[in-house]
Amino acid sequence: MAETPTKILLEESEQPTQWYNVVADLPEPMAPPLHPATHEPVGPDDLAPLFPMAIIEQEVSTERYIDIPGEVLDVYRLWRPSPLFRAHRLEQALGTPARIYYKYEGVSPAGSHKPNTSVPQAYYNNAEGVTKLTTETGAGQWGSALAFATAQYGMECEVWQVAASYRQKPYRRAMMQVWGATVHSSPSDVTDYGRQLLAEDPEHTGSLGIAISEAVSVAAADPNVRYALGSVLNHVLLHQTVIGEEALLQLAKVGETPDLLVGCTGGGSNFGGLAFPFLREKWAGKMNPTIRCVEPAACPTLTKGEFRYDFGDTAGMTPLMKMHTLGHGFVPDPIHAGGLRYHGMAPLVSHLYELGETEAISIPQLECFGAAVQFARSEGIIPAPEPTHAIAAAVREALACKETGEEKVILTALCGHGHLDLAAYNSYFEGEMVDMDLSEDAIAAAMAEVPTV
Ligand SMILES: *Cc1c(COP(=O)(O)O)cnc(C)c1O
Repeated sequence: MAETPTKILLEESEQPTQWYNVVADLPEPMAPPLHPATHEPVGPDDLAPLFPMAIIEQEVSTERYIDIPGEVLDVYRLWRPSPLFRAHRLEQALGTPARIYYKYEGVSPAGSHKPNTSVPQAYYNNAEGVTKLTTETGAGQWGSALAFATAQYGMECEVWQVAASYRQKPYRRAMMQVWGATVHSSPSDVTDYGRQLLAEDPEHTGSLGIAISEAVSVAAADPNVRYALGSVLNHVLLHQTVIGEEALLQLAKVGETPDLLVGCTGGGSNFGGLAFPFLREKWAGKMNPTIRCVEPAACPTLTKGEFRYDFGDTAGMTPLMKMHTLGHGFVPDPIHAGGLRYHGMAPLVSHLYELGETEAISIPQLECFGAAVQFARSEGIIPAPEPTHAIAAAVREALACKETGEEKVILTALCGHGHLDLAAYNSYFEGEMVDMDLSEDAIAAAMAEVPTV
């Protein structure tokens, strides 16, 4: 076929104006979230202290398409539509007959896909009179995305950053401060739970689950303050579908349909955002791609976790969600892909995996960074540590194609750049990076604490 261009772009006028809600098309319905104390299905009233009504409606919506508000499209246009790249130079370097495409989300102000949801979340909260949002952040990407979004609507933002990353990533903290946010190291001395954990261990490295508990407790205590979550929930994955909708239009422009989609899965949002519109096309019989989740070997939620009800946070304050989990008390080893260190997985991504609509693999970090360096030396862009997993999986597949001669079309989301993660690359080049052994005992201990529903 004719050579495709390196960059496949959309005009602003071609920007998708609706999000796709995969819930409308699920082959089987999902299990509902349950109240943490009563174990009854949660209703809108249970969520109202944390989220605005518009978000709660989206969380439970079964409408296939939801209009993106004009004020959100206006902010999206600062970086959307994002480019789709054909990885000609990586293909050459690998000597593969496969055609590799990547949708690049690092062009957003925060440098990742996360503003696709932080912007509508800030917008809907602001529209309902909320003046401040609280949240957690692991690698700092979600915190900076929310800080950027709240700045667009003149709101305050308070962020609990996992202690390990607070120490390692002062530049992410500075970004949040530039956009006007207040940042705490978590566990922090501003919540009861944080103080309790610090008393037990002043050097606590923290976890996403702990930081969520802190941010939720502060939001729940003040009616003008709400909480925003950067992954896992249905409405977050809904907002991220702009990635897949744009990629569908872009691939159509060059007459391609994917044979394989690969995406890294932390909480599942960039993966779901890319994959769900393609699943819709697959269910409609228009294409038949294999859809593969890639997770870190040190936090293999889909491949080693159990599919059952568990809490979203460590303290057990959030609703119970049916998902793949390593146990809400599981603290993953401090791998560099901080955004993939979460004990659970989006219920939607978990459900689709259980139904056999997707597959999953895990890859250790040394292989991921090796692939990322090869990617950067050919394509130029330095990937964030999280999408190095997707790149490593794409490289594995492209090398397999070299053996078989198959001209597979591989699509992935390069969901963020790594300009603020260069310390991880340093540790790779200095030979300090190691593959962490997964402790089966630690998982078993954490699973023992998961409630029986
Ligand atoms: C937050 C983040 C992730 C992990 O979250 P998902 O919800 O699984 O997408 C992955 N990559 C980047 C760049 C992130 O910022």
